[in-house]
Amino acid sequence: APPALIIIGMAGSGKTTLLQRLNAYLHGKEQPPYTLNLDPAVSELPYTPNIDIRDTVDYKEVMKQYNMGPNGGILTALNLFTTKFDQVVELMEKRADQISHVLVDTPGQIEIFTWSASGAIITEAIASSHPAVVLYVIDTPRCNNPATFMSNMLYACSILYKTRLPFLLVFNKTDVQSHDFAVEWMTDFEAFQRDVHERDDTYMASLTGSMSLMLEEFYNCLNIVGVSAVTGEGIDALFAQVDKCVEEYEKEYRPEMERLK
Ligand code: GDP
Ligand code: MG
Repeated sequence: APPALIIIGMAGSGKTTLLQRLNAYLHGKEQPPYTLNLDPAVSELPYTPNIDIRDTVDYKEVMKQYNMGPNGGILTALNLFTTKFDQVVELMEKRADQISHVLVDTPGQIEIFTWSASGAIITEAIASSHPAVVLYVIDTPRCNNPATFMSNMLYACSILYKTRLPFLLVFNKTDVQSHDFAVEWMTDFEAFQRDVHERDDTYMASLTGSMSLMLEEFYNCLNIVGVSAVTGEGIDALFAQVDKCVEEYEKEYRPEMERLK
């Protein structure tokens, strides 16, 4: 089966734009992917998905029917869709020999996918039928101070623990700001400490500093790439990293899954 890229990230980090870019890139190479939209609340998509949750459930109807707010509506729509996910996997398997990758777009609000039973069920269904990789998308210009950077890394870390899948950190929007600062913070602990204390010297700063020691181990098992979903910069490098992640999947994740069966 072709690799499946599950695109996760905070609202506005650029997941949908990135999927559109990856889709266009692969079509340009005549290696068409199979695309899945799992965001019931998106109003317009810049690509035409092969499978669209919006064709199955109308989250606004769900909101009305169950008397819910938007988040409840989106979560319930995802739950309803998940009950049919075995059919989605069948469709993907039917097309497996004609497609290069499966690209999965997730709901705008990250927690709806990462902290729901449905998100876990969908991730597992995909990862047990395809070599799966998590692409964790980061809004680079919005995490250029040490505290927001750290909270984003902690979130990424928690998702790594939950999914246990090969993980690629995608620093997006490098057309606005290069991700060099992030690479420096992740590889040079003293540079991070220096920048933390330069900005403020409170309890928060020392906490952030100590956390980065713990995160060192996390950083060591990460793959990193900087891209611009808008200009297409870095997309070659992204696919090179994806290949590495697929190797990791075959070497570490597949044997573990077979053992647990
Ligand atoms: P999502 O909520 O994660 O799916 O984010 P979207 O793909 O909808 O993007 C959110 C906003 O960020 C939109 O206004 C995009 O045009 C913008 N955006 C996404 N990728 C990039 C990028 O690489 N560079 C710039 N400058 N803006 C981007
Ligand atoms: Mg989106």
